[in-house]
Amino acid sequence: MKKRVAAMLLMTSVLLSGCGSAVPEEFMEEEQETDEEVILDPASIRPQDDFNGYVNAEYLMGLDLDEHKGSYGSFQAVQDLVDDQVDGIIEEIVNGDRNTYAPGSNEQLIYDAYYQVLEASCGGEFMNDEDITDMLSTIAKIQSIQNIEEFLELSGELYEEWNVNPIFGLSVGSDMHNSSAGSIWLEPFSDPSGSNPRNVSVGGNMGQVVAMYYRKALIDGGMDGDEAKERSVNTARMIIDIAQATDLDLLERMEKDWDVAMQTAQYKTAEEIDAICPNVGMAGLLQTMGLPADAADGVYLWDAGQLTKIDSLLTEKHLKEWQDIALMCYRSSISDLLTEEYGGQPVLYSNNKYALDAVKLILGKELGEEYAERYYDEQTVEAVCEIAEEITEEYKVMIEDCNWLSAEGKSAIRAKLDNMMYFIGADDPHTVDPKDAELIGHSAYDTQHRINKRDYRERMDILKNGIERNGFQSMAPMAVNACYSPDMNSINITLAIMNAPFYSPEQTDAENLGGIGAVIGHEISHAFDNQGMKYDSNGNYEPDWMPEKDREAFDEMASHIEEYYSRQKILEIHPVDGELTLGENLADISGVDCILRLTKTNEERKELLENYARVWACVSQKDGALAQLYSDVHSPALTRVNAVVALFDPFYEIYDVKEGDAMYVAPEERVTRW
Ligand SMILES: [Zn+2]
Repeated sequence: MKKRVAAMLLMTSVLLSGCGSAVPEEFMEEEQETDEEVILDPASIRPQDDFNGYVNAEYLMGLDLDEHKGSYGSFQAVQDLVDDQVDGIIEEIVNGDRNTYAPGSNEQLIYDAYYQVLEASCGGEFMNDEDITDMLSTIAKIQSIQNIEEFLELSGELYEEWNVNPIFGLSVGSDMHNSSAGSIWLEPFSDPSGSNPRNVSVGGNMGQVVAMYYRKALIDGGMDGDEAKERSVNTARMIIDIAQATDLDLLERMEKDWDVAMQTAQYKTAEEIDAICPNVGMAGLLQTMGLPADAADGVYLWDAGQLTKIDSLLTEKHLKEWQDIALMCYRSSISDLLTEEYGGQPVLYSNNKYALDAVKLILGKELGEEYAERYYDEQTVEAVCEIAEEITEEYKVMIEDCNWLSAEGKSAIRAKLDNMMYFIGADDPHTVDPKDAELIGHSAYDTQHRINKRDYRERMDILKNGIERNGFQSMAPMAVNACYSPDMNSINITLAIMNAPFYSPEQTDAENLGGIGAVIGHEISHAFDNQGMKYDSNGNYEPDWMPEKDREAFDEMASHIEEYYSRQKILEIHPVDGELTLGENLADISGVDCILRLTKTNEERKELLENYARVWACVSQKDGALAQLYSDVHSPALTRVNAVVALFDPFYEIYDVKEGDAMYVAPEERVTRW
């Protein structure tokens, strides 16, 4: 399964608060958490009291948050720059001469997709008469199903053509225990009307709401009102039944931290699946993917109880309910394309923006290649590769110096480090195939249909032929981000993140270390954090690959880091969740620890630390920042700056930080990562 640990969210939020800091009035709601004096003069913020405010307050106070939808900072500023560049690429292509574009080339696809969506959005129609006939015949097909065998077959067709499966939450990814092979992952059932099983499981009003959604979908699909009413109530009942058989704690874990939840999936052989669902069995499950009974030996499964329940409901008695769910699935997959006559929503954007966004959505890979062709700067990529090499070498020294790892543990870590692959910049463009021209159909609906089928073929290819270890595929080159993929033991540093303040040839080496260097150091750490430690050097899930005594020592070290972060607060009183954010905090500390070791003078260290803070400059509305404390695996940006720099001696030396200063952490409380 493709699994990534994102380095940073694009919109990591923080308030200019905590650590007795600056709280610009315009960013605060009326109800303040503290009556303390609000400092409004950025120049008066001392690094000893709030390093983040000292570096970033002036920039952040100059931002108009209303204009930026509640959260803004360095990351978003770089992403805005890149988004403008990407818009420019599309505009350049669509204003060019189509005759000069080879059939199947990125330019031809982008050109045709853009004008198709533009023309459709101008007329308000994404489906022509032919599409409406196709849609009505698909709906009629769903409604005419006579038995479960036919329903399984139809589910397979919907999965292939519209990327929806009415029965199972199926996905295809790498095998947890053999990362180069593909496998099927069976996620818990999710109601296509969007209801939350936690709310639905108690029945009552929520059941009525679900019934209402189904009733509307049935009527929009052409059903008589009375029949739709009766059927939708039964469908809602079945959805409540399924919700009551669902492991709700598991769903919560999945929502909170997918990476952790993923490791709780268990591989079940075909025989075991037959025992869990005696009714349709493994063969029925594969049938809903359009696959023959021998296409897979097993699946990764989370919720066996729910699966048994669903299996027991796959009977003729409940056929109508399943047909309604299938109809809802199909409609949700084309909801953006439906005309108002069939329950669609009118287009709200300006037509040009709508077309630009649609092209980005459906031709992401093609656009990524065009972006790389124009913005790939060899010198920059080479310089970033050199920084990555330097950091990797220093990691080896840092691990050697670690006082809690055994010699055996150190060599295991070194071996994983040696087998780590770096994907820096962007992949080579694919070879143009004239057949790809067929990807753009006669209408937006038709194009969506063709893209779904291509995606289906790609998934089936993974299942059949396995996964290539290509980290470039884990993130688009125009995403201002970076990631470590545990299943590939690889790091991806995108092209888009190679902009200031992360990297610039205009910045000093120390500043670049504080920017892109900190990002690289952070990502490497993910290979050895509380999650990464469970995957071996080939990306296979193998929690025992490190010696037991080292794992115990790791847990001991991590517990101190967890406690340290649990003491951090934003807005004076709201604590960071040290457990939820542990992996990211380990990565932040590890990254800064490593890059500081690569500097020689305090002047360099000052530049490094200040650019590190600049990268995290971010401000957000209070509500969003508080919500993130409960859901984001990253600490607030403010904490990522202040709690990290306060752990390192150079910070105390350079800024003369003393006991009594707000940033001061007593030496015995300064936790260490390695
Ligand atoms: Zn991270």
